[in-house]
Order: sequence, then structure tokens, then C-alpha cells
Amino acid sequence: MQKQRTFDEITLITAQADMTAAIHGGRAKCLQRLVRLDMPVPTTVALTFGAVRRIANGQLPDIAEILNHFGPEPLVSVRPSSQDPDWGGPGAVLNIGMCDARHASLCQQLGEAAATSLYLRFIFAYATEVARLGADRFELPDCPDRAALDRALAAYEEEMDEPFPQDPARQLSDVLNSMARAWEGTTARLLREAKGAPADAGLGLVVQAMSLGVGRGECGSGVIQFIDGTTGQRRVTGRYLSQSQGREALTAESGALYLTRDPRGLSLEEAHPATFATLVDYGARTRTRLKEEMEIEFTVEDGQLSILDAVRVPRNSQAAVRIAVDLTEDNIIRPEEAVMRIQPQTLSELLHQQVDPRAVRDVITRGIAASPGGARGRIVFSATDAQAAASRGESCILVRRETTPEDIRGMHAAAAVLTIRGGVTSHAAVIGRGLGLPCVVGASQLRIDRKKAAIIAPDGRRFAEGETITVDGTTGEVLAGEPPMLEAAIDGAFGTLLDWADRFRDIGVRANADTPADAQTARNFAAEGIGLCRTEHMFFEGERLSLMREMIFADTPEDRKAVLARLLPMQRADFIELFQIMAGHPVCIRLFDPPLHEFLPADKSGIRELADLLNLPLADVTARVEALEEYNPMLGLRGVRLGVTVPEIYEMQARAIFEATIAASRKGEAVVPEIMIPLVSAMREVELVKNRIDAVAVNVHNMTGATFDYRLGVMVETPRAALRAGDIALHSSFLSFGTNDLTQMTYGLSRDDAGRFMSTYVQKGVYEEDPFHTLDLEGVGELLTIGAERARATRPEITLSICGEHGGSRSAIAFSRQRGLNYVSCSPFRVPLARLAAAQIAL
Ligand code: PEP
Ligand code: MG
Repeated sequence: MQKQRTFDEITLITAQADMTAAIHGGRAKCLQRLVRLDMPVPTTVALTFGAVRRIANGQLPDIAEILNHFGPEPLVSVRPSSQDPDWGGPGAVLNIGMCDARHASLCQQLGEAAATSLYLRFIFAYATEVARLGADRFELPDCPDRAALDRALAAYEEEMDEPFPQDPARQLSDVLNSMARAWEGTTARLLREAKGAPADAGLGLVVQAMSLGVGRGECGSGVIQFIDGTTGQRRVTGRYLSQSQGREALTAESGALYLTRDPRGLSLEEAHPATFATLVDYGARTRTRLKEEMEIEFTVEDGQLSILDAVRVPRNSQAAVRIAVDLTEDNIIRPEEAVMRIQPQTLSELLHQQVDPRAVRDVITRGIAASPGGARGRIVFSATDAQAAASRGESCILVRRETTPEDIRGMHAAAAVLTIRGGVTSHAAVIGRGLGLPCVVGASQLRIDRKKAAIIAPDGRRFAEGETITVDGTTGEVLAGEPPMLEAAIDGAFGTLLDWADRFRDIGVRANADTPADAQTARNFAAEGIGLCRTEHMFFEGERLSLMREMIFADTPEDRKAVLARLLPMQRADFIELFQIMAGHPVCIRLFDPPLHEFLPADKSGIRELADLLNLPLADVTARVEALEEYNPMLGLRGVRLGVTVPEIYEMQARAIFEATIAASRKGEAVVPEIMIPLVSAMREVELVKNRIDAVAVNVHNMTGATFDYRLGVMVETPRAALRAGDIALHSSFLSFGTNDLTQMTYGLSRDDAGRFMSTYVQKGVYEEDPFHTLDLEGVGELLTIGAERARATRPEITLSICGEHGGSRSAIAFSRQRGLNYVSCSPFRVPLARLAAAQIAL
């Protein structure tokens, strides 16, 4: 049996100490790494999760043992050290050990003002954080003199009925106690669980010798980072504030400038170039040795630098990708590591249109860049107006003071969102990022003139409701008019990372694309072909819809053929375009699938119009529409059943595909189209359709003299097709699992109606998740396994794939790969995510 490792509850952090983030927390472990990098980290003692848990239960550790590490007059800070820094923890408490005696000695050492300021800071922290007294009586005075100190001590005594504690051991034990209990509080627990922390997540604490940041000579504190957290570009930024401690440099007004200016008007870099150079050197050291871009927290005490902490630079997705790629190109990490570092979902932020950086920008105002991407549209001021605009097919920008949950439907409908108030975690920002919607928040210089329905720019220009503006969520700018945009596409670091991902993955990724625009997006994202082209989507508009209706009303096969002959050139043109865009990559075209009545009008006025169009009596048209109605159309006359009973439609489609193949192959690379038959449940269906399509191929060859190749396959989306995949494979060179219908039919669950009760079902634990979202590996997955095995037994070289909406999800990709499928096919915008997820699964 493996021996359980034991750790001392109190550990002095040294290069050799036995420590781990799982026991001491991420901060403690990181401090040890900094010590190992020879950085001037003040003496630090780490307390384990176990020790802190015991403190919360009233069992204090040996305080003397801790304080022994800090000399006869200890002055220390305590900071939280949770396993994952994102899980948070109680705020740090500084200057523990300040008391009357220490104040007196520090007056000698640092001068009275500095000593009094430190004492006052500690009284403030102890009173508010530990004794939980109201902050109003303990505010830090502008002038930290003796009188202010006396007032603070008296206020404490009055509130607590005891003098301010003078014993450093008592002070430390009280601070430890209060921090340990704070971690166990319900709010803290809920907050960290929301960030993914397990219910039993532990808290470690680090006790560190104070490096004061206040006193004689150059003293101060700050943070520095070497990378831009938004773009990932190398750039030194930071804040430094003389005579400050803790996070003061981050919040103080005067600390807002790049490396805060001192009274002489110099930056840290100008005033103390050696200190600055050392910090830059430390940045390089952490980068190469910790293999990460770190933000370093430091203090300067009489010119001496101390490093208090380092944390991963917070970053958005664009920066995360860039950082991972740069670290790899600098040989600090390997490409595999870079690929593993990026969460596939975060790529979606990079997949949006952007305002062309070369465009001339007429800036209306600036706010916070809260969700990346650029979008233009007409100004609307309410969620209802946004929905109305969307229903008219108009792009709109939703402008609000701030958004609330009632605005969500409006946000869905808008092309971008602009708010006057709010920061990066405001409702608009969070929802915008979730939706992948460009979003600028906190544009506080903009005014909304409600009465006149307009926005007013800081320079006085007015932009009325309905006028077009552009929101650049990447830069935070709001622009007048419509500057040129760049389509989302693979470039730079994004492309490099995905190229590496392609090296490691061992399952193909194609796209579901019905239109040339979809196909172009798919190619931009390096899809390896089209896995599903739903041809019926090509018939739902304009003249084609009318022709479809005429075809449906044709009385004889000859009449039907005549109408189909008019549809043929349109289909042929569609396919030529798809083949050209996909430039030699495979294109899998699914033959017509939906029930015919979907093409017919649903109401009386529609039927009347149709009667006009067809020049038929209203009664005849009504009777025909009624005759086509089915009780259960999704299980009715659709898919291959139409192919068998009304074969002319598939024949026209096959002819269009072959003629397009010949035309596209003449202009570019040879095309080998894939023709897919939907909704099959019996081998004979395939045989019948195959015979007809083969005959069309021969006919096209005879008519044109051209030779061409094609592959015929079957969509496995009924349970019977999965079970009978063995004999269906006899006539199929590929099978593609349509997991949408397969899920519908396996569960006997209508994909169009399940939404009504799905949340109850998931809440009550009937289904773990919505099976239309997350592939049901147990049930649908078993059919997939059986189908794949039986098909391969008949035809080992058969191509297998999945093309339902599940195709882009990590779990479905992992499952498909395990079952030996050749590729997954998903919507174009999910292609990059699928490529990355597939690589991570393979690694
Ligand atoms: C499917 O059923 O999984 C599928 C991809 O086809 P459709 O969604 O068009 O029914
Ligand atoms: Mg289907």
C-alpha cells in the first residue's frame, strides 16, 4: 500500500521544504518557487489546510513556534493560500505585531509619521476584520499623528471594553482565528463553489515578515506585469505608490499611472532604474522557470526590494492563446502543453467579426472592452425594440444605462450591447461574453436623452434612435457609422495553436454547412470538408419555394419532372459553389429530408395565395394540403421514404450533384461528392435509391462523356439502422450517425417539444442532462457502438462519422474517437473548438 505523505502543520518556506499546493495552497507553493528562484522573499511560514481547519474548530497551533521565525519583535502579515487562487479567501491582514512598544521603537527607526501610520493601519485592520467593528470610527486619517492614534485606541477601547491588544501572540492568534472562520462562512463557501471549488476545499495561510513600504528613503509597494492581459502582447505595466502597503497602490488615485510618479514627477523606472531593472529580470526569471506569465507583487523598503507574491497574469482568451504560443515559440513550453492550456470553449471569443484595425475610426466615446468582436447596427433603447428589429432582419445595437435579466431576450436579438454603467463583471458584460456578443460597458461619458431618443457623445454630437453605429468590444470604442470589418478567421497565434492541435489529434473535423457562406466560414476555420449539407435549406426561399410547391402539386410524374427540371440548374449552381469553396475537400450532400407539407402554407391566406399561383380552385388546393397532413410527420413520409415513393426528387438532386461535379472538376481540383440518404431503417431502401442514383450517374456520363466518381452513404438516425448497420453497410461506402434524430427516436422524445419538460426532468434527475445537448453515451451511445461494430464487420474500410448537433462537444468527440469513428461534423463556428478538444483528448 502506498504510504500517505505527512506534512508538518507549520512549515518555514525554504527551497528544500516539503510542500504542495494541495496541502499548503497555491500561494504558499508559489512563494516556495520564488525562493527557489533566489528572489528576496521575506521570511514566510505556511500553515496547512489541516491546521487552518483545526483553528476554525477552536484548536490553535503553537503560536510561539510560528513567531519564533520572526525574531524578538515580530511584525508580520497573514494572507490566504487556497489551492486554486481563483477560489479567493479572506483579505490579507498586515502589520500584526504593532503595539505601543513597537510603535515607540519604530518612531526612532522610521520617524514618527511612518510608525504612527503603520500602527493606525493595523488598528484599522484589526478593528474591522477581526473585532468586526464598523469602519466609520476607524477611518485612516489624512494626517497620521499622535492625536489620531490616541483617538483610534480610545475608540477601540470604548467599543470593545478592553484596551487594544498589545501582545503580538494574541494579535496573531486572533487574526488566524478570524481568517479560518471566514473561510467556513456560508457566503465564502457559495462564492468559491460557484468558481468550481469542491465542497471540502481547504484554506492554507501564510505568515510573512512585513516588508514595510513605509519609512525612510524610497519606500513603497506595487505590482508589475510584463504582458498585456487583453492582447497578450509583451508590455510592462504596473502600479507603484511611494509610502504604501498592500493593495493601496492598486486603488489609490495617484497610483493609477504607469509605475506611479513620485513628487518629483519621475516614474519608478526613472527614479530607481536599478530596482526597475531587477523587477524586469525577475519577470524574465518567472517566465522561463515557472513557464508562465506572472504578475509580481513587491515592496521597496529604504531602496531594498522584496517580492511578496506572484500570481498568474489574469488574461482574456486572446491573450491566453498568444501567451501559450509565445511561450512555445521561445522554447519554454512544448506545443503539447500550449494545446492543453487553452479551454476549447474560450476560443469562441475569438471567432467573431472585428473592426478592421486599419480602418479610419470616428470615435463617439470609449468604455470598457467587455466582450470581444465588432458589430454594427441601428441604435435601439429597449429589449423589445431590439427583438422587433431582429424580427425585421435588421441588425441593432442595444443601448442601455445598464442591463438587467429582463434584457436578456433583447441581448439575444441585438448585434452588440452598449451600457453607460458597469464594469467587466456587470450583467451586460457577463451575458455578452456568454453569448459571444460584442459588448462595451461603462461608457460613462455618453449620455442618453430619453425624451428625444438619442445618445449624446462627450463632444456634443447626437446620434438618434435608428442611426447606425459600431461597437468595438475588443477596444472598448463606440464608433460612428460603419467602418470596414474583418471576418473572423484563423490568423496569428490562433492559427498556430490550432495547427499544433491538428498535429496531435487523430480524428477528423468537418463542418455542417448548407450555404456558401457557411462553407466559407468552415474553410476559414480549416474544416476538413463538409460532413452534412442539408439540401432542403436551399428550397425555403423565393422562387425556389414556389417551384417546390408546384412540384408538390404536380399530378403526374411527368409534370413533377418538368418542375424539377426548372429546379435543377439552381441546385447545380448551389453545388458548384460549395465544391469550389471546399476546393477538393470532401462535401457530403444529404438528399432531401423533411416532410413535404413543411413547404406548404399553414393558414387560409397562404392557401389562397397558393391557389392564385398555381391557378387552381381553392377547394382543390385546400384538399391537397389537408391530404398531405400527417399525424406524426417526423415519423411519416420524409427522408428516404420520399426517395422511394417520389423518386424524381432524388433523381434531380443526383443529376445536379453529378453535373456540378463535372463542372467544378473542370475548373479546379477533382471533386468526389458524397451523397447521403437520410432516415434509412432498412437495407432495401438503400438498394432502391442506389439503383436509381447509379442509373442517373450512367445517364450523366453518357450525355456528357465525362467520367467522375462518387460515394454513396447512409445516415444512421433510426435505431433500426444502427441495429442493421451490418447489411446497410453492404451498399454504403460511409455511414454518418445523425444523433439528433437518433436521440429523438431512441428516447421516443420529440426534439421539437421536449423543451417543455426538459428542465423538470433534469432537475429531478431523470436525465442527467438534456440528451439533445449532451450525447447520451449509455443509450444512444450503445446504438452507435453497435452500429459502428456491425458496419465495420461487413465493410472494414467504411468511413464512419457523427453529424448531429453533438458533433462539436468534447464528450461526443471523445466517444466517437474511442469507437473508431473517422470524423465528427459540427457547425462551422464550433470547428476550432472541436479541433482543439480533439487534440486534448488525444494527448
Ligand atoms: C440528425 O438527425 O442528427 C441530423 C443531423 O439531421 P437533422 O438535424 O437535419 O434531422
Ligand atoms: Mg435527422
